[in-house]
Amino acid sequence: MKLKPESSAKISEIFFSFQGEGLFAGKPQVFVRFSGCNLSCSYCDTYHKSGKDMTPRAALLEILGLIRNHFKSNNKIFKPSVAFTGGEPLLRADFLSAVLPELKKAGVKVYLETNGILFKEYARVSGYVDVVAMDIKLMPDCKNSSLALHRQFLKACRKKAFVKIVLTDKTARAEFVKALSLIAGISKKVSLVLQPATGQNGRLGIKPARLYEFTRLAREKLNNVYVLPQMHKIWNIR
Ligand code: SF4
Repeated sequence: MKLKPESSAKISEIFFSFQGEGLFAGKPQVFVRFSGCNLSCSYCDTYHKSGKDMTPRAALLEILGLIRNHFKSNNKIFKPSVAFTGGEPLLRADFLSAVLPELKKAGVKVYLETNGILFKEYARVSGYVDVVAMDIKLMPDCKNSSLALHRQFLKACRKKAFVKIVLTDKTARAEFVKALSLIAGISKKVSLVLQPATGQNGRLGIKPARLYEFTRLAREKLNNVYVLPQMHKIWNIR
């Protein structure tokens, strides 16, 4: 494994758990959580300043060690899957460009969780990504978000992506409708997961009547709409 140390990234944690969000909720995965983000969301539950600089080689050794511990049975490795999450993983495209090809060589499925803005960076690694869990971030909940950039991003990853939109009691209906039009304009078949903001005790951050209304609006425009809270907060795991 020859990897350049200069493409290091600040990593908050690497750990094994179960996917808690979106269409793959419940899937066993190794998680690589990056520190730092290009957006600022009112409901963000990630502490962006923690973490340590890791070289691609050090991260790979840790990832592959967790895969051996959790996906090995009878001397065979069964369907290993690694989720890159954040923060925003695509801020560290150099690091991903070094790590992802090595994971693909090892037969690992790569799952990218992204805020769906950095489409040029995505283009650098898209060939190594199996699934894109792409957020569409809405104003005013998320500062610096941009529907124009989300559109570019979704066009680039449409065949591998499902979209997630977090809903709170402050989510603006007009922004939500614009996001639905954006997705439908690319394809009505793109799956959309509506994710009520979820507190640690599993309490939802949106009233049921609003959630029903947003779901109805989404189903008018798109073929595949799901509603799922953050399951890991209900299970009380990482
Ligand atoms: S995009 Fe995600 S990680 Fe970044 S601030 Fe928003 S919720 Fe937090």
